Amino acid sequence: MTKSDISEIKQLLSTPKKVVIVPHKNPDGDAIGSTLGLYHYLKNTAHEVTIIAPNDYPDFLKWMPAENLIVNFEFKNAQSLKLIEEAELIFTLDFNALHRTGAMATPLKNAKAIKIIIDHHQQPEDYATFMYSDVNMCSTCEMVYHFLEMLDATDAINQAIATCLYVGIMTDTGSFRFPSTTSTTHRVIAELIDKGANNSQIHNNIYDSNSYNKLQLLGRALNNLKVIPELHTAYITLTQNELNSHNFKKGDTEGVVNYGLSIKGVKFAVIFIEHQQEHIVKISLRSKGDFDVNALAREHFSGGGHINAAGGRSELNLEETITKFISILPSYKKELQS
Ligand code: 5GP
Ligand code: MN
Repeated sequence: MTKSDISEIKQLLSTPKKVVIVPHKNPDGDAIGSTLGLYHYLKNTAHEVTIIAPNDYPDFLKWMPAENLIVNFEFKNAQSLKLIEEAELIFTLDFNALHRTGAMATPLKNAKAIKIIIDHHQQPEDYATFMYSDVNMCSTCEMVYHFLEMLDATDAINQAIATCLYVGIMTDTGSFRFPSTTSTTHRVIAELIDKGANNSQIHNNIYDSNSYNKLQLLGRALNNLKVIPELHTAYITLTQNELNSHNFKKGDTEGVVNYGLSIKGVKFAVIFIEHQQEHIVKISLRSKGDFDVNALAREHFSGGGHINAAGGRSELNLEETITKFISILPSYKKELQS
């Protein structure tokens, strides 16, 4: 963001505006944390603000300040469309391309509002008037903090904002351990704790709220884990039947892919999850070091994300998807073995 972008945005925000804030589909901790953090700031500075999420999000996020006010585009379609159409400003957070909002993409594209992107994913699409994109940032939540810094507004950070931003930084950095975590990230986190974020309580709310079913499903996933030692690769599969028999709920498989990456010597881990209703296999990819899962997901699985964490999908069935995956691995042999 240039200095002149910032002064234009300051000017825009100097009088009350109708604002819509949008996270990506299947929002995670960073998507919900960043949208809510920005929501509280704008709300407290006299704007009329609504967060519209493309669809539902996991229960472990359903304690965050004001999350109950998030409008679900799937359930409140007419209201959402009206809000998007009437908005003067639309912030799109934690995604790089409008198609990441699913059915909201077209109404967002057609909206007359001034659009502002805040995001840390690779290859940002150029659809907004103002773009704050930084692929080196650990999380969109850290970027919202820096955005408030640029607006000279950190004094306005209260406990609600601090709590929301803490959540996304914590979840997107794997609790401050991924390489994207910098000393600045830790300084931001320290500030957020000083502003009232209860770090231990937040950790409990997010990570110690497992159901028995979720742990049993994790057990199933770990049993299904396969390792290809010579390619330093591990992968997990979950069928729709396995999900059903453990009473799967949204969020229950979040983070499971990381177990593959925790095996000594493994630098590439994937989880394949069957979604019978959508006729797709949802894929999550993670890596260590410079093995680029964003590139692999883009090339083979209609997805993308970051160098060390990406998502994608396959329209083949689960078995065929695994066969495809195994067949493309040798072309990455050199990178995987380096
Ligand atoms: P997850 O595996 O947790 O769904 O996603 C990992 C990371 O990749 C997240 O930052 C997520 O936002 C991003 N991501 C997931 N799916 C896609 C996709 O289809 N396209 C892009 N550009 N990013 C994705
Ligand atoms: Mn993120």
